[in-house]
Amino acid sequence: MAGLKGIKTIRDFQLQDKVVFLRLDLNVPLDHGQITDETRITASLPTIQYALEKGAKLVMASHLGRPKGPGDKKYSLEPVADRLTELLKKEVILVEEPRSEAVKALLMGLKKTQVILLENLRYDSGETENSEEFAHVLASYSNVYINDAFGASHRAHASIDALPRMMKDKGIGFLIEKEISMLDKLLENPRSPYLAIMGGAKVSDKIQVIEKLMDLVDGFVIGGAMAYTFLKAKGIPVGKSLVETDKLNYTREMIARLEARHKTLLLPVDHVVTQDIASGKGEVTSGVGIEEGWMGVDIGPQTLKQYSAAIAGAATVFWNGPMGIFETPAYAKGSFGVAQALAESKCVKIVGGGDSAAAAEASGYADKMTHISTGGGAALEYLQGDRLPGLEVLRPQKISGI
Ligand code: AMP
Repeated sequence: MAGLKGIKTIRDFQLQDKVVFLRLDLNVPLDHGQITDETRITASLPTIQYALEKGAKLVMASHLGRPKGPGDKKYSLEPVADRLTELLKKEVILVEEPRSEAVKALLMGLKKTQVILLENLRYDSGETENSEEFAHVLASYSNVYINDAFGASHRAHASIDALPRMMKDKGIGFLIEKEISMLDKLLENPRSPYLAIMGGAKVSDKIQVIEKLMDLVDGFVIGGAMAYTFLKAKGIPVGKSLVETDKLNYTREMIARLEARHKTLLLPVDHVVTQDIASGKGEVTSGVGIEEGWMGVDIGPQTLKQYSAAIAGAATVFWNGPMGIFETPAYAKGSFGVAQALAESKCVKIVGGGDSAAAAEASGYADKMTHISTGGGAALEYLQGDRLPGLEVLRPQKISGI
């Protein structure tokens, strides 16, 4: 597990009666104050429960969305506090003002049946500014710092970077440990045949990951809007499908590099097309070309058959990005079919980045995946070889001259 080298985990600390500052990613989607997907909350439970079992006094903290300021109630963690109360069967005390003396006062008399959750860290501009002064306040009531917010670890914000920088006892929780060990399966001696299934909206978002995986994988399987830039680069008519014209040269080059390396490149051979996305209706093309006025919105049934066969024969698969506009039922068969093929394959199947986690969830096959990353952006940055500030700050610091 090279990605975790030198980093301590929550298991390495004596937690009895210690105040543990637990940075979580509780940034769940909300619709009129209702949580619409609680994956990030449930994924945080093992670390929370472990800390409580070991007798820690917990100060949990997270961001939620991008609030404009403390008055932006839409981004309050209140619904999350309510849900945590139910799940933990403990009183979750939501502290409106993390800078106030309230936290210290509460900690002094905190009962075993109570835990503290700080209100949305981004209500304080010091969070996104990576303010040392804000971090000092948070450090003033914490003995041990644990980061389990994988989805926020690519951001150098105060609770991710400045705070652990000033803490002696610091490490990660179980969620980050699992995320990195799973993503490392895609980078360190992955079992062959190894396929990267790439889809979603844009080639440009995925270039760095493609570059990183180019020498590791045996092949790429391309779907989503990305596929039309590839097909257009090969001179195939794609109608009014989404194409990134400024990436045509890059795509041509990539195709040539894959050929030179004898790597597989699977592109759609048929499509679901529409003249108007809003109609929610689609037709299947008879071949690879798309007529003028029509737009590709999903891979077609022949393509799905080919992709499913490739997945069945794979040993490792990384899936990033849906095969079509899966949010519309008529354009979801490709993405859900890929999820089904993954579920039925014996391969190691890791889903991450962009909307692929949402597509896997919506397909009903999420529980059949080896791992679905909770952090889209962070997972892609890790895979493309970027150092995540939230992890780097937890490694033993080298002191020059010693
Ligand atoms: P990403 O965040 O890059 O994974 O992109 C996900 C988005 O790409 C989803 O919202 C899909 O609806 C969209 N998408 C997938 N296929 C297509 C397509 N053929 N045309 C337009 N948008 C697409």
